[in-house]
Amino acid sequence: MILLCLLGCTKDTEEASVAVYDVPDEYQVVVDRFLEEAAIRGIDLRIHNLIIRNDPQLAFDACGDCNSLDPNATSQKIIRLNPRGCWQNDLQLETLIFHELGHCILGRSHTSELLPNGDPKSIMVPGKIDLYSPCVYQFGDEDECNFTFKRDYYLDELFDPDTPVPLWAN
Ligand SMILES: [Zn+2]
Repeated sequence: MILLCLLGCTKDTEEASVAVYDVPDEYQVVVDRFLEEAAIRGIDLRIHNLIIRNDPQLAFDACGDCNSLDPNATSQKIIRLNPRGCWQNDLQLETLIFHELGHCILGRSHTSELLPNGDPKSIMVPGKIDLYSPCVYQFGDEDECNFTFKRDYYLDELFDPDTPVPLWAN
């Protein structure tokens, strides 16, 4: 099911004459993390025009979408999330929201490019939110299930698509 998530990221723009900021606390912590990670990389972002909401009307196979690919700061950005079993842990939710903020705030489009080892090159790959999260079901060693070492690269690449291939991906 996760393979099909994140499709359909461009919807008709919902116009709003005044910028609205309405993000539930459970998602605001992730938006705060996005801003922190941007700041660590020297990017000063302010977001004042963002709505994030759960939307049961989302297609059953989509985990989220964003109404805009326009980094223009003035238009109302709306991220819809499908809370019905899309993410299995906090890092998968982070990956999903960072992907949608990549569309909404950074203006990035999807890419299906791969790294030399076959992993997706970017968090902007459609339909994959387990790029660096731990296994949901762990059968072997804990180490074999820990992919959080990949997180730094994917965040670097999110904010700078020219980020070099990381050592672990050769
Ligand atoms: Zn997308």
